[in-house]
Amino acid sequence: MSTKITSPDDPALDELCGKLAALAQEVDRSGGWPAQQLQLCADYGAYEWFLDSAWGGQAWDQEAVVRGYLALSSACLTTTFIITQRTGACRRIANSDNQRLKERLLPDLVQGKSFATVGISHLTTSRRHLATPVLRAERVEGGFVLDGFSPWVTGAAYAQYVVLGATVMDGDQATEQQLLVVLPTELPGVSIPEPAQLVGVSASATGELRLDQVMIEDQWVLAGPVENVMSQGASSPGGYETSTLALGLADAAIQFLATEAAKRADLEAPLHALRHEHQEVSETLFDVVRGAPNCSSETLRQRANSLALRSAQASLAAAKGTGYVLGHPAGRWCREALFFLVWSCPQPVLSANLCELAGIVD
Ligand SMILES: Cc1cc2nc3c(=O)[nH]c(=O)nc-3n(C[C@H](O)[C@H](O)[C@H](O)COP(=O)(O)OP(=O)(O)OC[C@H]3O[C@@H](n4cnc5c(N)ncnc54)[C@H](O)[C@@H]3O)c2cc1C
Repeated sequence: MSTKITSPDDPALDELCGKLAALAQEVDRSGGWPAQQLQLCADYGAYEWFLDSAWGGQAWDQEAVVRGYLALSSACLTTTFIITQRTGACRRIANSDNQRLKERLLPDLVQGKSFATVGISHLTTSRRHLATPVLRAERVEGGFVLDGFSPWVTGAAYAQYVVLGATVMDGDQATEQQLLVVLPTELPGVSIPEPAQLVGVSASATGELRLDQVMIEDQWVLAGPVENVMSQGASSPGGYETSTLALGLADAAIQFLATEAAKRADLEAPLHALRHEHQEVSETLFDVVRGAPNCSSETLRQRANSLALRSAQASLAAAKGTGYVLGHPAGRWCREALFFLVWSCPQPVLSANLCELAGIVD
């Protein structure tokens, strides 16, 4: 029986992170769904951090949640990433006006007895250049018929529910109206193809969710039809959660560098510089969390991305050829850091990343 983690200062958090870190290499190697890690998180009460006591949660404040995420992502990025998608779904449900759905779904979700995820990026950062929306909703008596696909859904095959966005159609024409529903994955017409192999976080089992004329009743609607349904409550793409995980990954790589530097004086200067930058970007992150930002969340994200990429590569350079052998964490951190270039990356962050990579200084 595990102790519940009740604050980010709780030693039980270190204990959980130790267990996750010990399993991180194997989950990367096998690419298998990290069921054991997710169960550990449930046992330690990690899903309680994000939700209100009405649902059995501990309702940690934002700063505490960020500290929790920093620790978890430094230990195992894949597990932590899955938790963010799970939490995204829970928050969308908790922040909705659909009281019946909250009562029905949240108590099991908070205890880890069920799993929910999100399929929303096609309303924000994916397939936005296409004329026809990839997931369409048609109003019918008693609900909506959903048709098309959601391109990226983490852990869809393991989810009982997917919080899903769709564009409301008027005949063949897309309207400005959007819908957010909870989709039970067992509904007729829902299919989940084998997810693609990814460069990193492959064990997150992220891939398409397909819907072939799926009838969803009104009782499953969370929000809409309304314009910009994603701007109603919860966090937006490019918000500070992604930056938090990037900083967690950077921390793991910097800690490795510190271990090596204890034996090798030549690593002292780069270690010092990366540590200093990590400290600075972390302070900026907490400023943003406290609502007193000295930069936009896009700038924070770009700096966190850059630091994750450079810290991971510095750990690889320090590990030398040994780090380039599959199974060494430095190689994994390098692949995982690339994820931040593509995950929930709004256009301004994408442009800033590209400018940095191209050596364009403004
Ligand atoms: C591992 C992983 C896990 C994820 N998990 C989730 C999740 O659980 N839930 C969720 O909702 N989202 C998830 N996402 C989605 C993510 O947040 C982004 O939305 C996604 O990475 C955007 O990439 P895309 O290829 O779909 O972008 P798109 O913009 O659709 O680009 C696709 C392709 O279209 C072309 N293209 C792009 N823009 C243009 C243009 N203007 N004109 C012409 N061609 C263009 C490019 O060739 C590009 O390769 C995940 C993504 C990844 C990689």
